[in-house]
Amino acid sequence: MLTIVAAIVATIPMFAQPLDFSKTLRLNYIFSGTDKDQSITLAELCSIEGWAGKRVNLDKVPVRGNGQLTLSVRSAEGADFDKVIYKTSFSTLFQEWQPTEEATKLAKGFENVFLAPMPSEETLVTVELFDFKDGHVSCSYSHVVDPKDILIRPVGMNPAPYEWIWKGGEDLASDPKSDERIDVAIVAEGYTEAEMETFMADAKEAMASLWAHEPFKSMSDRFNLVCVKSPSKDSGVSVPREGLWKETAVGSNFDSFYTERYLTTLHLFQLHDLLAGIPYEHIVILANTDTYGGGGIYNSYTLTTAHHPGFRPVVVHEFGHSFAGLADEYYYDDQYSEYYYPDVEPWEKNITTMHDFDSKWRSLVGEKFRSDDTTIDWRGKKSIKEKIAVDLYEGGGYQSKGVWRGFPDCRMNTNSYPSFCPVCREAIRYMIDFYTKEIAD
Ligand SMILES: [Zn+2]
Repeated sequence: MLTIVAAIVATIPMFAQPLDFSKTLRLNYIFSGTDKDQSITLAELCSIEGWAGKRVNLDKVPVRGNGQLTLSVRSAEGADFDKVIYKTSFSTLFQEWQPTEEATKLAKGFENVFLAPMPSEETLVTVELFDFKDGHVSCSYSHVVDPKDILIRPVGMNPAPYEWIWKGGEDLASDPKSDERIDVAIVAEGYTEAEMETFMADAKEAMASLWAHEPFKSMSDRFNLVCVKSPSKDSGVSVPREGLWKETAVGSNFDSFYTERYLTTLHLFQLHDLLAGIPYEHIVILANTDTYGGGGIYNSYTLTTAHHPGFRPVVVHEFGHSFAGLADEYYYDDQYSEYYYPDVEPWEKNITTMHDFDSKWRSLVGEKFRSDDTTIDWRGKKSIKEKIAVDLYEGGGYQSKGVWRGFPDCRMNTNSYPSFCPVCREAIRYMIDFYTKEIAD
């Protein structure tokens, strides 16, 4: 009997789970460089109790993104770190900044934060950034994480006050089942302590707008929404072009990259410190202002202004970027003329350069759809009723030529159109499934 027990104990390490889902490893990095070069540096490792992220498709990514984080362990003693145990893809503000004129003149560093389940053994972490032009790895950095490292800083013991507004459509008193559902945190930015009721009302409006859009509407049971009541000292957010700087929860500002409407935060460490201890995977930051603006960065965050009349469509549009990795479907006649290249297929599912259209919506071409929403949008335009075929419509991804979208209009194109186009709906559906169901290779 004793011998059998000893034999079982001895075999345990062979089958040990390489990830400990009772904890989160938070990896803080600085991505820095100019328009020509880039480097990645580790800033700090943190640990947080619990893991709210994916439990399925651990070694896969749903879309390529502009960068990836990969965790690998040794498949056998003495082997290289040859077995991928966790993978995630992302985009960054740093890479958006690189094509700007400022990047030709100076080097800048940007904070980036990634979450993974805590490894149970020595694990190689690799961060890669991809080149916009050809998709090749432009920068790569690897380091070994030992979960026993005494300098992994525990955080999240005293989280900001938070309140659930959605638990998969179940009673709000029920268990959030964060291991099964996609946890979205809605964060207050520029709301003072006295304005938290306004924030909660704004968060509920964001939720109502999201649930008014397919496929979020019919798949809302896969989500949890938690509101983070992070108070700001000042009311409103910073507007540098007016010389207006405020002390706010996540330190956001307009005029990012000197673009008036671009509202972002550079303070990712601060943002994630604020969220530590609260189950979250995706982040929506609501800014307490009526000035139009916002941004959404794939697997980083959505940031949008809550009191502009376009709030409802814009928050959903930006979540299309940050959650589903969708591209903008609008275009200018002269700007960003070299953003997408004819011999590279963009990884975003809702635009194509026709380089590899088979990987896109070819199977939907010819199928007719109409807007599935009957609401009247914020400009008072009614939704389109006639059926329109999915096809190739030239213009998208900021370019009027050389990039095509699948439908004349979409939530990723204009604020006045009431719904996502059939191509985007399919892409969002896939993303929701990816985080909640095992996907076949
Ligand atoms: Zn679309």
